[in-house]
This record gives sequence, C-alpha cells and structure tokens, in this order.
Amino acid sequence: MTDEQKEKITALRREGSGYTAIANSLGISKDTVKSFCRRNGLTGTTAKEVTSDKCRECGKRVPQSSGTKPRIFCSKKCRVKWWHEHPDQINQRAVYSFVCANCGKKFTAYGNCHRKYCSHECYINARFRGGGSHD
Ligand SMILES: [Zn+2]
Ligand SMILES: [Zn+2]
Repeated sequence: MTDEQKEKITALRREGSGYTAIANSLGISKDTVKSFCRRNGLTGTTAKEVTSDKCRECGKRVPQSSGTKPRIFCSKKCRVKWWHEHPDQINQRAVYSFVCANCGKKFTAYGNCHRKYCSHECYINARFRGGGSHD
C-alpha cells in the first residue's frame, strides 16, 4: 500500500465510508482496507457522526425523502452487510431507558447512557429548583 492510499483510506473512513466502498474506489482488497483500519484505530467511532446521502456500504447515492430520518444505506442488503462488518458500532446505537429526574416521565435515548432529564426544559427546571441546597 502506498502512503497516498493510506491517507485516502483515513479520509474516507472519516467521511463514514464502508470498507467495501473504500476498497472499490482505491482498487485494493477489502481485507487490506480492513486490517489497515484496525491497526490505525479507524474501525469504530468515525463513521457514525456523518450525515451523508451516500450508502455507507457501497458508496452509491441514497435517495432521501424529507421529513424522515436520513437513510444511510441504499438497500437492506447493504445495511445488513455493513452492520455485520461493523459489530463494534452496534452497542453505540443502544437505546437506554430512563426516568426523568425532574418530572418522573419515562423516556428513552439513543446511545447515551448518562441522560437524567427527558428534555432540556426539565434540565433547566431541575437546576433552578435545586439551586442553593448546599447553603
Ligand atoms: Zn449500498
Ligand atoms: Zn422531564
């Protein structure tokens, strides 16, 4: 692998591209891409921050319809394949259940196990109410 290819892999991973898409665009084998990513810590967290209308698995454009959650895969096949190849990301999508510390309402949050309040409003309310208790 050349330095240029390495740089491209890094950049593409930061954009959220899947191993197959990177391998295809650089003309190298997917295993090469994968082991490079593993060695360089590019297997996990980088991909999820990206909102892109390109399929994460194959890089094809994904048609987006407004008003719904952005689609990140062009097809079910790609989605299944991508998650199969990125098992390290599955727990980052976990849904946690909480009881709001302010209003007592039950709520759920994606991928964040440290939520205390169901909304920003409850957070603010709780802060104002609870202020000065150490006085
Ligand atoms: Zn696809
Ligand atoms: Zn609440």
